[in-house]
Amino acid sequence: MATLFISDLHIDASRPPILEQFLTFLQAEARNTEALYILGDLFESWIGDDAPDPAQSAAIDGLRTLTSNGVPCFVMHGNRDFLMSRQFCGASGAQLLPDPLIVTLYGEPVLVMHGDALCTDDRAYQRLRATVRDADWQRQFLALSIAARRALAGAARAGSRAHTQAMEHSITDVNADSVTLALRSAGTSTLLHGHTHRPAIHALQVDGRPCTRIVLGDWYEQGSVLRWDRHGPELRSLSRII
Ligand code: MN
Repeated sequence: MATLFISDLHIDASRPPILEQFLTFLQAEARNTEALYILGDLFESWIGDDAPDPAQSAAIDGLRTLTSNGVPCFVMHGNRDFLMSRQFCGASGAQLLPDPLIVTLYGEPVLVMHGDALCTDDRAYQRLRATVRDADWQRQFLALSIAARRALAGAARAGSRAHTQAMEHSITDVNADSVTLALRSAGTSTLLHGHTHRPAIHALQVDGRPCTRIVLGDWYEQGSVLRWDRHGPELRSLSRII
C-alpha cells in the first residue's frame, strides 16, 4: 500500500477539468491507499467554510466518500485556502495538519510543508502572509458578508497575479538558506512541499548530509502526485483525458 501526496489543485468553479480529474483520482487511485495528503491550495481561494462554490462543494463530497470508505485524508493550508476550518473538516472527513510537520513514511521521517514559508526572497509576500495568518485579521475578515469577502479575495488574487508576474522567477522560488534551515531544524533528510508549481526532485547537502527536496506540481494542465511506498517516493504526472 502507498501513501499519496498532492497539492496546488486550485479547484474552483471556473476550472471544471481540474475538479473532474480530482474526482476521478479520488475514486480510482486514492481508493486503495493508506492515506491521502493534500499539501495546500486544494482550492483557488477560500473565503470561509460557509461559502464554498459548487465545484468546491463537489470536491468536499468526493473527499467525504473517500474518508467514509476508510482512507484517511490530511489537509494542510496553502496560501489560498488558509481559512479552511472545522466545518470543512466536518463535511469532508479530512483532518487539518499544522505546517511544518514531520511525517514518518515507511520508517523515514519526512519534513512536509506547503512551501510558501520557504519563499523568503519575496519579502512583500512574507509580510502579507504574516498579516493574513493573524487570528485577529482572520476574525475580522470572517465577520464580513460573503459578498464583501468574495470581492476582497478577487482583488487579492488579481494583486497576487500581478505581483508574481512582476517578480523575477528566482524570487518566487524557495530560498536555499531557508530550505537548509528547515531541514537542519527538523533533522530530516527529506523535505516535501508544493506551492512553487515546479515539480522536481532536488539533491542537496545540509551540513554534509545528503538530502532531498521533493516538489509537487500543480494541477492546471495535468495532475501531479507523489506516490510513496516501502520502495520510496515516485513523482508522477497524471495526464488529463478530458
Ligand atoms: Mn500556494
